[in-house]
Amino acid sequence: MVKSDPFDNATKQVNDACDVLGIKDKGLRDYLIMPNRFLRLKVPVKMDNGKIRVFTGFRCQHNNDRGPYKGGIRYFDPEGGVKYMEREVMALSSWMTWKCAVVDVPLGGGKGGIFVNPKKEKLSDGEMERLTRQFASKIAEVIGPQKDIPAPDVYTTGREMTQIMDTFTKMSGNNYSPGTITGKPIPVGGSLARNVATGLGNAYCIREAAKILKIKLKGARVVLQGFGNASTFSGEYLEKMGAKCIAASDSKGSILVSKGFKVQKLLDWKNKKGTVVGFPGSRKISTEQLLTTKCEILVPGALENQINASIAKKLQCKIIGEAANGPTLPEADPILYKKKIFVIPDILANSGGVCISYLEWVQNNMGYYWSFDEVAKKMESNIVRGLKDTHSISKKHKIDNRKAAMVLAVGRVLEAFEHKGIWP
Ligand code: GLU
Repeated sequence: MVKSDPFDNATKQVNDACDVLGIKDKGLRDYLIMPNRFLRLKVPVKMDNGKIRVFTGFRCQHNNDRGPYKGGIRYFDPEGGVKYMEREVMALSSWMTWKCAVVDVPLGGGKGGIFVNPKKEKLSDGEMERLTRQFASKIAEVIGPQKDIPAPDVYTTGREMTQIMDTFTKMSGNNYSPGTITGKPIPVGGSLARNVATGLGNAYCIREAAKILKIKLKGARVVLQGFGNASTFSGEYLEKMGAKCIAASDSKGSILVSKGFKVQKLLDWKNKKGTVVGFPGSRKISTEQLLTTKCEILVPGALENQINASIAKKLQCKIIGEAANGPTLPEADPILYKKKIFVIPDILANSGGVCISYLEWVQNNMGYYWSFDEVAKKMESNIVRGLKDTHSISKKHKIDNRKAAMVLAVGRVLEAFEHKGIWP
């Protein structure tokens, strides 16, 4: 797949939005593009064999004009190495700023990570915990419930969030601070519905897009690229709305089941065999075949840079719900727009995660907790409004949804900035 610089992509998206908003001032554009602060950290860990290993970690705080920085922490080793990851974290922090703004969540944008692949490297539980707590101790001075609130991302879970919260709490003199991080397990201050949030939010977006396009969800065919949290819950909730999943993939390969499969059945298979490949009744296909399968709904739920211009030309879907961050390259957008494919851009499609993170933080701040349905309903209202606002901007300016979502988001951040101005 094409390897393009993710921060260049993020920069282009801000510039495109500025063009539509009529912002000519280069200083203002730079203000919106550049992160406020970027930390690159040495994270030394005593490994089980007694040797020290030094990892590299990051926390990027992009913008906090609308509220505290917010965004995940990923453990990952992208192909381009540490240098590439640095750019990736910067881009992802910028996307968090726009993601919060597009669904009108009063938070800013941040992102962090450690250059490590715990799956490939088979780190022990002890090594993982020492790595996480060491990293937490290093970012402790810049995070906090009113400053910067991390969350899970690629290869991090509630376990890491708990360890980060616990390290932070202990370092601040046992000052109970569950709101310093979200995506926590329920017993330590997590929110109901947070675990399904990204997929559920994506399904709400797809449902609204289908209404706009007058496509019936009953029997609509769904292709899931990736079979992690975001894509499986997208699939499960679409299934509940009447749709039918027909293809899926993971890092080991892609499969097609023309007559459709139940997501839970494929999950059970993957849990047993470690991959979706080999699922009874399925045919193995290539990644390109998966993406270009004829269907109504395509859910790219894996990593970035999956849909390039050449794939975009061959796509046969009607709606794309970007469960992953940055799955589509900028070169593909005009092609998709021309083909009238309704793209629900990542900052909107996968914002269910941060929406419910926000609600988790609110519950932590109140010390009072809502039911699953209350949380899901609040998220639904933010996300549906975000989709409708995006669609009407796209119609008004005759631009694609990605640009429209950015116009909405950049406009909102700008408004907050203009109220405050620069100080000192
Ligand atoms: N990592 C998720 C994202 O990229 C969630 C972020 C959050 O909940 O703060 O949207």
